[in-house]
Amino acid sequence: MFLRVCWYIWSIFRCHNSTICGTFPEQKIYINLQKLRKVGFRGMHSTVEDVKLESMQVKILPALQDNYMYLIVDNKTREAAVVDPVDPELVIKTVQEQNLTLNKVLTTHHHWDHAGGNEKLVKLWEKELDVYGGDDRIGALNKKVSQDDSFTIGSLNVRCLSTPCHTTGHICYHVTAGDGKGEGAVFTGDTLFQGGCGRFFEGTPEEMYEALCTKLSALPDSTKVFCGHEYTLQNMSFARHVEPDNESIQQRIEWAKLRRASQDPTVPSTIGEEKIWNPFMRVHEASVQKHAGGATDPIITMGKLRKEKDNFKA
Ligand SMILES: [Zn+2]
Repeated sequence: MFLRVCWYIWSIFRCHNSTICGTFPEQKIYINLQKLRKVGFRGMHSTVEDVKLESMQVKILPALQDNYMYLIVDNKTREAAVVDPVDPELVIKTVQEQNLTLNKVLTTHHHWDHAGGNEKLVKLWEKELDVYGGDDRIGALNKKVSQDDSFTIGSLNVRCLSTPCHTTGHICYHVTAGDGKGEGAVFTGDTLFQGGCGRFFEGTPEEMYEALCTKLSALPDSTKVFCGHEYTLQNMSFARHVEPDNESIQQRIEWAKLRRASQDPTVPSTIGEEKIWNPFMRVHEASVQKHAGGATDPIITMGKLRKEKDNFKA
């Protein structure tokens, strides 16, 4: 542990690039202290950030190497739910600091890096927690859900979208204001990433097509997309390889590079944006079909793209 702390302090203070090395030592320390303040001694991969919507606030909480957990807070009641709490201590600390009422856990799928903190959170959090999910392999599950099941977080509505493929029991959660007005948010786990999608571990191209191009595409374009991992730069590099003439991809890469240079998260995007730059949501487009071998069937295109991405080196 002591050696780890030493290594971390050293890594914070060493020169990362020539711009910083070229500055005065005091400036260098100032820049690095700013970074330290943002990511903390825990060495998180990204900064904690709040996204404010009309009816809710979404707190982005980084975990593990590149995972994201999310705290969804209802503005009216301060009731909260947490998505994929793999780091329960950070969740509890944040909930206590913000004086929130946490009573729900939304699990996207059973993989350890998403559901692996459920049991510990239930144990540490002494009040009652409803643990939602679509798969019996999820720890501490007590509210099993399927397509179109709904529940509330304070005054917010949550609708479940069953999106099997990455895993058979994968659920995406669409959260909207009680009156259905204003921007909504969707928590997509490892089904839809910014610029990409999850591997087809337990499903088929037909199922991913249904998830991305039927269910998630049907949400309003303004819906904010909060996905399970910080994979944007890797995914966008593949997107550019598929559609080199798509300018929105290049622009997003430039933007994401700036964000990542200061360890800021690149989430959220929106459903409308994903339709513009995500090749897996663009399998109807002639440019994407041509890249994937020329078949005009979007499902064949989906399968070919995923196979190519599985072996793609950014
Ligand atoms: Zn997964």
